[in-house]
Amino acid sequence: MAGHPKLKLPVPPGFTITTEVCTYYWNNKRTYPKTLKAEVETNLKKVEKETGKVFGSVNNPLLVSVRSGARSSMPGMMETILNVGLTLKTIPGMIKMTGDERFVYDAYRRLIMMYSDVVMEKAAGIEPKDDKGIRKILDEKLCDVKAAKGYKSDTELTAQELKALCENFKKTVKKVLGSDFPDDPMQQLWGAIGAVFASWNGKRAVAYRNIEKIPHDWGTAVNVQSMVFGNMGNSSATGVAFTRNPGNGDSHFYGEYLVNAQGEDVVAGIRTPCPINEWSTSGHGNDSESLKKVMPKAYKELDAIQKRLEKHYKDMLDIEFTIENGRLWLLQCRVGKRNGIAAVQIALDMLKEKLINKVEAVLRVSPAQLDELLHPIVDPKAEASAKAIAKGLPAGPGGACGFIVFDSAAAIEAKKAGKECIIVREETNPEDVEGMRAAQAILTARGGMTSHAALVARGWGKCCIVGCSEITVDTAKRIMTVNGKQYKEGDYLTLNGTRGYVYEGKLSMLDAGEKNANLINFLKVCDAVKRLKVRANADTAADAEKAKAFGAQGIGLFRIEHMFYGANSEKPLFALRKMILSGSTEERVKALKEIFPFMKKDIKAALKAMAGFPVTIRLMDPPLHEFIPHSKDAVEAICKALKITPEQFEKRAEALKESNPMMGHRGIRLGVTYPEITEMQARAIFEAAAELIKEGLKITPEIMIPVVCDEKEIVNQKPIIEKVHKEVCAKAGKKIAYTVGTMIEIPRAAITSADIAQVADFYSFGTNDLTQMTFGFSRDDIGAFVPDYIKKGILKNDPFQILDQTGVGFLIRHAVKAGRGVKKNLKIGICGEHGGEPSSVEFCHREGFDYVSCSPFRVPIARLAAAQASAKEMKK
Ligand code: PEP
Ligand code: MG
Repeated sequence: MAGHPKLKLPVPPGFTITTEVCTYYWNNKRTYPKTLKAEVETNLKKVEKETGKVFGSVNNPLLVSVRSGARSSMPGMMETILNVGLTLKTIPGMIKMTGDERFVYDAYRRLIMMYSDVVMEKAAGIEPKDDKGIRKILDEKLCDVKAAKGYKSDTELTAQELKALCENFKKTVKKVLGSDFPDDPMQQLWGAIGAVFASWNGKRAVAYRNIEKIPHDWGTAVNVQSMVFGNMGNSSATGVAFTRNPGNGDSHFYGEYLVNAQGEDVVAGIRTPCPINEWSTSGHGNDSESLKKVMPKAYKELDAIQKRLEKHYKDMLDIEFTIENGRLWLLQCRVGKRNGIAAVQIALDMLKEKLINKVEAVLRVSPAQLDELLHPIVDPKAEASAKAIAKGLPAGPGGACGFIVFDSAAAIEAKKAGKECIIVREETNPEDVEGMRAAQAILTARGGMTSHAALVARGWGKCCIVGCSEITVDTAKRIMTVNGKQYKEGDYLTLNGTRGYVYEGKLSMLDAGEKNANLINFLKVCDAVKRLKVRANADTAADAEKAKAFGAQGIGLFRIEHMFYGANSEKPLFALRKMILSGSTEERVKALKEIFPFMKKDIKAALKAMAGFPVTIRLMDPPLHEFIPHSKDAVEAICKALKITPEQFEKRAEALKESNPMMGHRGIRLGVTYPEITEMQARAIFEAAAELIKEGLKITPEIMIPVVCDEKEIVNQKPIIEKVHKEVCAKAGKKIAYTVGTMIEIPRAAITSADIAQVADFYSFGTNDLTQMTFGFSRDDIGAFVPDYIKKGILKNDPFQILDQTGVGFLIRHAVKAGRGVKKNLKIGICGEHGGEPSSVEFCHREGFDYVSCSPFRVPIARLAAAQASAKEMKK
């Protein structure tokens, strides 16, 4: 701030020790460069000259504050020490200068509290006994005095009481920490400087940097600044202000302040602050005590400064200020933290005000902030005071509250009765789909981020936590147990699916107000900046419509087998069961004929909903054993239909069992062994397309072959598709343009990309399976070990959530390069769950993909992530 003379900021004189010194300090066993001592002394002299005060002087003492200053804002993560330089020698001088003995002893007791805590305990690495640090011990002493005197507020303590308290504090410090509170100003200054550098690697700061992805080697600067006092009586004050409202983005100056106080009083919430103006009154009742009314001159100056600052920095800023005897001082200024609603509002307003351009605007909202606008969330206030009973993988964002049910039937019943429930399962299988749909949220003890429950939940924008290994579920007894405590059907839970926390009981929720005009306008700005196309993984016409509403530019993955799950699946599922349990080609073909009309109808509906946009239809890929019936009635019905005995059924079912279904008879392998299955699907696709083309719609199906590991598999299947295409075109008298591409989801396919590209029109990376097979981690069973891998630092993230750019990324990079080497314009996309994850989307942008595809509810996030990837590139 001081480095901007043009901005004319009233900053207390001071100097900065740069981050390089912090790096040196940590690289050299906590020592300083040789020249530092002399430099600090020279600069201190300059400050003395500017202020007309002298550090350590008996008659005219200068006091300083010592604060951290990191390159990226880390509010409250590092340390600050105020009033440095107060000693038994300088106290009388301060009293003479200010004429206020009470004020000076109040400053002294604050120094002892901060210094003993930050320098003598934390920086010295002393672990407090029973978790009770020196600051807490001293605070209790202060409370004791207040209680003994019957005082409610700190301000009621007299000078003599504070003086006695300071003596008591120093004795306590010596007793608890084993050394004297330093009475030499220089010793205090160097102690404080060292402690700020040390706080760079404090637990809080390290954890914060990990979350915010701030590099650990940046280091902090130290700002040494002459003290100004907001606690010099009623013409003094201190406060925190934002150039715009950080809670809703409103473009008015916003803030809070306290008369006769020091900064920590505002931040620590000891006293309730007053609004600075009429726009900051929310929650405070009235503005009669606003800074604007109480100290109009200082307010006017502050308002003019905040306007200058925002114009210069072109962002919403957080400003700390102090008014000392009517004179305004600025202590700190940084980019202000804000919530999602405010972030979007501010970006749009600043764009309109021409303060920033579109490229800058899209970088002003983080994907997590945008997500806040898309889901109802648990009220953060309620969550702050609640204790989570368990933690799982955050599979579906947002919050939900409802009572526990243990099966689909109960969930459906609850929904019918208009009640909100949470379905709790050990794991989920296709039979739970309807219950999952009916429930408010899903909680499972097993499974990973790409487990069935997670995929389905995200597809519906539902709150979902999977792999919550702390819970055990006894569906038969209808009991869930967490850490020895039992929960019954009907007991309430609240889930935070964004963070993976499970709470007991009902916590209040916030409706984040989805689909608001701001969201739509902001995403339009994103579209103007992004290069990647964003498609959706959608299996029904309804999903396709939803995806279009969210801005999808096509379908990147239509899973053709969706009709065998969930509502209205009885008939096609029965036909499918007949097909997989058939004993001959004739029987199979007969069953396929029964499936055909269902498939054609669904394909037609999805193609129609997305007419004009590309639609990728993937041929059948489910592990067949999933569909073998188990219930007595279902088995009997199948036996009757196939005219077989229960024994024959058992035999056929046994033959279908696989020990590793994920790597079993699925995908293209079905078509290789049973060409009639591919033929039926191709016919359903082309007949649906032909009928729509006849209606005058523009339809270009992209047929996608899954689980390919060798180009000869495609060579084997393509003639079947071509033959059906010819037949359908001839019969309909229409031309149907189409392409045949493949998923790249097996490492061997990626490796042999130069061969595969010869026979494929496009690639879509199936990064769910590609991650599974590259790591050798079953995507449905990671809950048991991946959390430990992350805790122990073996993995940085769950690779099923965030694309592993090193390993899986290596295969992708190779496949793209080799594929485009053969076919320059090979269309490339991604349809694994990573297609909606921001860092993975950025990777796809960098690697030259044409599109990403993700569940409809993640389309807005993908649009933002794609725009940010472009924006970063443009700014380079
Ligand atoms: C994939 O493997 O990434 C993919 C999209 O296919 P599925 O999830 O259906 O296996
Ligand atoms: Mg797959």
